[in-house]
Amino acid sequence: MKAEVIAIGDELTTGQRLDTNSQWISAELAAVGVTVHFHTTATDSLEDGIEAFARAAMRVDLVVATGGLGPTADDLTRDVLAAVSDRPLELSEEALRVVESRFARRGMPMPESNRLQAMFPRGSRIIANPEGTAPGIDLDVGGGGGGRCRIFALPGVPSEMKRMWRDTVAPAILSMHPEAGTMRFRRIKCFGAGESAIEAMLPDLVRRGRDPLVGITAHEATITLRIAARGRDEAECLAKIAPTERVIRDCLGPLVFGTEDDEIEDAAVAAVTSRGWSLATVESATAGLVASLCMQADGRGGGRYRGGRVLPAARAGDAAVADAARRCREEHVADVGLAIGPEADGPEPGRTRVAIAMATPSGVETVEHVLGGAGSLRLSRAAKTALDLVRRSLP
Ligand code: AMP
Ligand code: MG
Repeated sequence: MKAEVIAIGDELTTGQRLDTNSQWISAELAAVGVTVHFHTTATDSLEDGIEAFARAAMRVDLVVATGGLGPTADDLTRDVLAAVSDRPLELSEEALRVVESRFARRGMPMPESNRLQAMFPRGSRIIANPEGTAPGIDLDVGGGGGGRCRIFALPGVPSEMKRMWRDTVAPAILSMHPEAGTMRFRRIKCFGAGESAIEAMLPDLVRRGRDPLVGITAHEATITLRIAARGRDEAECLAKIAPTERVIRDCLGPLVFGTEDDEIEDAAVAAVTSRGWSLATVESATAGLVASLCMQADGRGGGRYRGGRVLPAARAGDAAVADAARRCREEHVADVGLAIGPEADGPEPGRTRVAIAMATPSGVETVEHVLGGAGSLRLSRAAKTALDLVRRSLP
């Protein structure tokens, strides 16, 4: 079953609001075993809405749409669906009673415009909205090659949309194709090599059509491998994921630092904590980012971060970064002192050099890194490189 997600709203096409509904719905569709082939975003205009739905009906079997079901003049999704299905809008007495009773319970008269929300294209099913006034619309329209396309149109308000998805839409989709089963995902997080280097280390794993499918994405030098498995039930998905995860871990070894939402700072703080140690920092090139990341990771579990200093390059001076790490360790009475020196000129324009040192009870280790990219990206890379040193090199 092929699906398309449609988001309606001028606030989306003009960039004033981020379309988080489509992201959420796509993840939910995957979890019920449906593959999304297209995302479409259209303005509130009647023409654009009709074009979006008509096109979707020709190329997919299932559409989940959000937005444009409100009572105001710019909410046209019901008119769009009437046009696309070539059926008139009819008043649903039942839906009208529900909308009226919502207003009655709040002691308010129902504005005439809300009557519109009880209008449905003939033959459609009403999707109850327990948290708002706009019910959703579930209808079949003619599709490509004489087939049918089922459309679920939901309001744009995320909390209402999610409740309606769980109560009504997801169960309806599951009953449309019981054989498709479900999907589960596993994310493996890596640091210390580039995206293409990591891909090259995983022979034949990152290939389209593989089952389970392995995808690779990079964000500020953190690489995420995402395993997606389809199966009859959760157990079958997990059984498919396990051997692929094993291959990844065998191939990448210490490059893997965690799974799911783990970040490199979590791995660094965990490495310190598991030894019963504590950590302090002094940083220049990273402008306090290492302290910030350590504080956040520590808040999620450790309780072992002792604090740190942020020094402008001029005050960090030329003193060896190894000395800074040693002094930091003493000053904060910590087991591990981590120092990130100021940025210095790199081997070529646009690249800089940063020295990083880690002092522990058994000595000081110093590494030097050459960094490129825009300012904020360099900062983040330098911070992660320092935290990676802690994660990987604790004695
Ligand atoms: P609508 O049903 O189009 O009137 O949308 C009502 C409200 O829901 C909008 O003003 C937004 O705050 C929110 N909203 C609509 N569409 C989306 C979307 N695709 N992603 C996130 N929020 C949305
Ligand atoms: Mg809208």
